Amino acid sequence: MRIARFSSGLLLTLLACGLLAAAQDASTSPSQSAAAPATAPASTSGSPAAQNSADAPLPPSTDSAQPAPAQTSQTPAATPVSVPANQTMAPSTPAATLNDVVDRVVQREHFFIAQMKHMHPMVETYLQNLKNDDANNPIPVSDQYFLGRLEMSDGPDDISFVGQPGFGHRMLTKLTGVYSLHYLPMGFAQMVILDTDFQKRYYKFTFVRREFLGDLRCLVIDVQPREGQKTARFMGRIWVEDQDYNIVRFNGTYYPQPKINFFFHFDSWRLNMRPGVWLPAYVYTEESNLKTGLTKTLHFKAQTRLWGYDLKGLGKNEEFTQILVDAPQSVKDQSDAAADATPIVAERMWEKQAEENAIERLQKIGLLAPASEVDKVLATVVNNLLVTNNIDLQSDYHCRVLLTAPLESFTIGHTIVMSRGLLDVLPDEASLAMVLAHELSHIVLGHPFDTKLAFNDKLFFPDQDSFKRLDFRHSPAEETAADAKAIELLKNSPYKDKLGNAGLFLKALQQHSPELPNLIRPHLGNSFANDKDVRMASLLSGAPNLDPKRLDQIAALPLGGRLKVDPWSDQVDLSKAKQVTLTSAREKMEFGITPFFPHLSRLSNSPEKVALTTTSAQPGDAGQPAEAK
Ligand SMILES: [Zn+2]
Repeated sequence: MRIARFSSGLLLTLLACGLLAAAQDASTSPSQSAAAPATAPASTSGSPAAQNSADAPLPPSTDSAQPAPAQTSQTPAATPVSVPANQTMAPSTPAATLNDVVDRVVQREHFFIAQMKHMHPMVETYLQNLKNDDANNPIPVSDQYFLGRLEMSDGPDDISFVGQPGFGHRMLTKLTGVYSLHYLPMGFAQMVILDTDFQKRYYKFTFVRREFLGDLRCLVIDVQPREGQKTARFMGRIWVEDQDYNIVRFNGTYYPQPKINFFFHFDSWRLNMRPGVWLPAYVYTEESNLKTGLTKTLHFKAQTRLWGYDLKGLGKNEEFTQILVDAPQSVKDQSDAAADATPIVAERMWEKQAEENAIERLQKIGLLAPASEVDKVLATVVNNLLVTNNIDLQSDYHCRVLLTAPLESFTIGHTIVMSRGLLDVLPDEASLAMVLAHELSHIVLGHPFDTKLAFNDKLFFPDQDSFKRLDFRHSPAEETAADAKAIELLKNSPYKDKLGNAGLFLKALQQHSPELPNLIRPHLGNSFANDKDVRMASLLSGAPNLDPKRLDQIAALPLGGRLKVDPWSDQVDLSKAKQVTLTSAREKMEFGITPFFPHLSRLSNSPEKVALTTTSAQPGDAGQPAEAK
């Protein structure tokens, strides 16, 4: 029997790249964020800002690339956006002066606001309150988690999935005084908007330089409210791509600072999700020393992510058209024999139906990623466990990725689900195998699965109730049994000599669980750890002691380094970033929050590829190991 190894496969890349992201991010503090990323061929020879009057020609770009022709189609058919035609007009020639640039930026920003009113992406904010340790390095002391769907038809608002008090309350004041010390989640969602009424006359614009963000050549412009201007809202710097003049990044704070509440500093990024359409994807927020009273100082970091822009069937009835395009034979019954199911087969089919209903629902609301290559990587590890233990499951199994940050894994029937956050922080393949072995054990041991979801009416609930209405937890006895079985599976597996690493991860998890309850608290499955217990606790004894100073001991990674989520389609992929060597223990940042530096690029204007509806990833059948790479 052969087992798939990952010596050159995807998984090592997957496991290595978290470190890179950590180190990259660490090397760039927000105060330096105006500088070009180290790898970008930044063109910084622009005239000093002070010499630029608004009508003077912009300094020529010093790189040899010619400006690409302006795009002409702005609103592709696939975008559920209707904007008056005059707002979709694209500039046909490059803007020559700062004045021209600002006119176009303002026009694009109005188009952007109009688009956002039709968008209902998921918005997730994860925040860590920090304090400095003895070595003056920030360490987390508590955390917060918000998840909702953005609703912007009358200013930014959101619908909460996790039921915080005050969440979902429509903010009538829009950009004033919304962040209190209670961290209104609305405040973070709002940072996708620079100014709901962005007007040239409210602001002073100062050209800084040209700079590359990823593949994009950008104009960097400082934006300040004009003196005495009460209606201006934003104060900071914008990056404008030099083809259609969309703002692709802005960095600063809101203005004027309210008396009672606080505006945080943020770094907000937009991605080109459809041709000509740039939408918010990431916001990094940080305050290191915000005085909020005589004694209280705010010190925190937060990441806000948006995804789920293209959710099929969200308030729309698209199912019927999908059925119409199916080929006739696909409607035919697929069963081999034309006989009724035996009782056992009927029971299995019933469970399968409940499983498929749950998966479909989770994907539709934007909590579960569509089937992807990542699923296949996970399924390969599962297959390695099955093959080396001579287990034939007698049915197929799948792995899927939950798009949220809290660390959790669970099973829905024969589908193993792992959260994006968990995949991000796992340091190596043995730790991944440990998580998968526990979930696989629930399947192998035949632990029951609540089949009430086979009745479709059980799925008629509002999306924001998903965490209340869907529950994939197992009983404590089943958890204990799955832990024991998982250890047995791992001891026969290719990971048997590396279980110390998995134990090390559990130690780190246990150590951080008191201050990071919101990262470790599951929403759909069983808890991974609390301050008393940790899953698979018997692995702890075989693990070395945690040594925060040792650079070669990586117990857990920071969030965000491993999986890349396409915010439009929710497709997940492995991050392609290369591994870097840590230069100090400060860069380890276990379970930590870092700034974002996405590699920006422009979508080509080619006709949209036909979206393929894929079924769940098919792992190799049990007993038939996947090809070694
Ligand atoms: Zn379990």
